[in-house]
Amino acid sequence: MPELRKDPIVDRWVIIADNRGKRPQDYALAPQRSSGRLCPFCEGNESETPGEVAAVRDPSSPRNGPGWKVRVVPNKYPAVLPDQGDPVGDGGVAWCDAQPGRGIHEVIIESPRHVTSLTQLSLEEICLVLRIYRQRFRELALRGDVSSTMLFKNMGAAAGASLEHIHSQLIALPTIPTLLAAELNGAAAYHEKWEACIFCDMRSWEQRLPRQVLLTERYTAWCPFASRFAYETWILPNRHASHWESISDEEIVDLASVLKRVLSAVEQAVRPPAYNVVFHSAPLTSPALPHYHWHIEVLPALARAAGFEWGSGYHINPVYPEQAARELRETLQNPHQNEVKAIRQTEAKGERLPMP
Ligand SMILES: [Zn+2]
Ligand SMILES: [Zn+2]
Ligand SMILES: [Zn+2]
Repeated sequence: MPELRKDPIVDRWVIIADNRGKRPQDYALAPQRSSGRLCPFCEGNESETPGEVAAVRDPSSPRNGPGWKVRVVPNKYPAVLPDQGDPVGDGGVAWCDAQPGRGIHEVIIESPRHVTSLTQLSLEEICLVLRIYRQRFRELALRGDVSSTMLFKNMGAAAGASLEHIHSQLIALPTIPTLLAAELNGAAAYHEKWEACIFCDMRSWEQRLPRQVLLTERYTAWCPFASRFAYETWILPNRHASHWESISDEEIVDLASVLKRVLSAVEQAVRPPAYNVVFHSAPLTSPALPHYHWHIEVLPALARAAGFEWGSGYHINPVYPEQAARELRETLQNPHQNEVKAIRQTEAKGERLPMP
């Protein structure tokens, strides 16, 4: 039974049409195949990428050589560049607005091994990745010439990944991207009216069934009421915080486990695994905000946007979020309690690779 639902934050409508999921598929999204070419992200091939801007590595290993756990390099094919002159486009009329393509575009290579998913990393390795994410946000915030950072992962060819070796990307811009701006505006309007954070309110509501996927001491994951995509899942910290980079070491360990469990469940549901992971965080340049709440959106790529989506801005989702949440809950792994304990012990003893 089709149903229109509206996202309460950005006033975005979606059509949930569960009859469409059973359509015959002549064009299943093709699984990604390894091309057999040299992988520029594997350990030993460091010369294939631009020089690293940050890394977690053995202190005795040379920069841009083997011996690392996570590497951050500028994107070889950047969408934006730090130093750009005047824009080429001068339409000659007032409505032709252009500005230089200024910004930072980095690639975070998340393992020296040729693995394709975060779920193939140990909890300790995921912690290092999350720490590097935090370190990049903190460092970019000090620059002053970028005001927002979009951190995202494309997993699988159907989700736009061009290289299968596990990596994420980060694009920092002097502007606030449209969707983030819509969330900030919607959240500010809600706060004005109710003196509350809409994300905190949603989180406490969604901690109950039927859309809850996972609830831990520090995080809640659920399939949003107006999910755009089948098995779309959001992860929110239970503590109100507008900026991702404010996360503590303790919170990172728990997030690593939550992320691994949620992504493993999504990978069970979405075959072949293909999804985008997006971090939404308040602008780098803004102070702590009472109305905004950082979160992670997991957006599976089961179907391509087609004519209706492009023409209307509405998405058609073939799986009810309540159904999606139930399926995800059923395949959740156990909490990684032993691994979490081991990491906490290592950290208490101060035995950790030096972070940049
Ligand atoms: Zn590789
Ligand atoms: Zn909040
Ligand atoms: Zn968001």
